[in-house]
Amino acid sequence: MTENIDVLIVGGGPAGLSTWLHLHQKAPVLAARSIVIEKATYPRQKLCGGGVTRRADLTLGRLRIKIDVPAIPVHTVEVRFGSDTYYLRQRNIFRVVRRHEFDHALALSAIKRGLRLSENEHFCDFERVTDGVLVQTSRRVLKVRALVAADGAKSVVRAKMRLSDKTRMSRLLEVVTPIDVRGSERVTKNVAVLDFTSVAENLQGYVWDFPCIEAGVPCVNRGVFDSRVYPNNERADLKSIFSQALQQRQVDRPPQSWQGHPERWFSEKGIYSQANILLAGDAAGVEPAFGEGIAQALGYGDVAATTLMNAFHHQDFSFDDYRARLLAHPLGQSLKFQTRLAKKLYREGPDALAHAKKLLARWLSPV
Ligand SMILES: Cc1cc2nc3c(=O)[nH]c(=O)nc-3n(C[C@H](O)[C@H](O)[C@H](O)COP(=O)(O)OP(=O)(O)OC[C@H]3O[C@@H](n4cnc5c(N)ncnc54)[C@H](O)[C@@H]3O)c2cc1C
Repeated sequence: MTENIDVLIVGGGPAGLSTWLHLHQKAPVLAARSIVIEKATYPRQKLCGGGVTRRADLTLGRLRIKIDVPAIPVHTVEVRFGSDTYYLRQRNIFRVVRRHEFDHALALSAIKRGLRLSENEHFCDFERVTDGVLVQTSRRVLKVRALVAADGAKSVVRAKMRLSDKTRMSRLLEVVTPIDVRGSERVTKNVAVLDFTSVAENLQGYVWDFPCIEAGVPCVNRGVFDSRVYPNNERADLKSIFSQALQQRQVDRPPQSWQGHPERWFSEKGIYSQANILLAGDAAGVEPAFGEGIAQALGYGDVAATTLMNAFHHQDFSFDDYRARLLAHPLGQSLKFQTRLAKKLYREGPDALAHAKKLLARWLSPV
């Protein structure tokens, strides 16, 4: 039997949950006729540095949600360009969480407000029918008026949409290590490191060290981000850069223990919807300067919910207005700013970096 659903949100990460939470705030009747399917079960693992900026907390605040999970507040960001180092010092520049805990807490907040969340159910395919799309999941067939693809950077929904725009993917590697005693002082001082030195080796990004708490144990989340905001430039040897960075930090972690996952980056010219389908979060694109995506995924939820509400009001599911709404929203403004920043930062290597310090400070300072 085919079930009829008004809105199907695929993916229970920050983008999917935020879409439902904003819908609940703006149009509770529509939210009650909407569901989220999530292929995993919570608490599910998500590879991530876990840096949650104030932008994310501001969005959650507007939803009257406080995610109270173990976190390390960062009061100093040490920014390195080779031998040149400078410090941004402010209370709570961002906090570092573990994503399985953060996302689980967010899902519980939504369930408390009435979200119908189906875990362990994944989206398989869709076909277009009169008045909507017919979605095949791992469990059932759903007839939906609006489908929200919030299923991450490797979005299956997006792949099935067969969009014509070019792929824009960043590359990331990550490993979490217990605190090295030699580095413990820095960690207890709540310092995060962003090291841009390898821009000289074609890296269009940086190496990070974020203090965090893993199962009650103080750890450091370390990784390397390569935005590929200039996709035609020579590719940096990510493994070699990360290996060198770990050696410099006297961390002995073999490559088999590293994990990798891509991010999609936002482009002003990107395609973000089709009739009856909206893209949100990593499935749409996040920012390429620092690879920050949690605050952006939460922001997409706001725009997606307004667009859905408007579509049901006017019974127009073309979603032609979604891109314009995204670009006009503070999320779109900041994605545009950060894309320009990424292009400046990673254009000419160290010289460009020196000029970009001011921009960095602006981005990392409070909103
Ligand atoms: C190594 C790394 C480090 C990062 N560090 C940071 C950081 O420090 N700070 C920051 O802000 N951002 C960081 N990011 C980016 C951030 O993790 C993402 O931008 C963010 O998770 C995007 O949220 P989302 O909800 O769009 O996607 P996701 O969080 O990926 O959620 C998508 C959800 O969809 C589910 N799903 C997938 N396929 C299906 C399917 N077929 N059917 C049903 N469900 C499905 C998945 O299980 C998942 O729960 C990092 C990313 C990486 C890879």
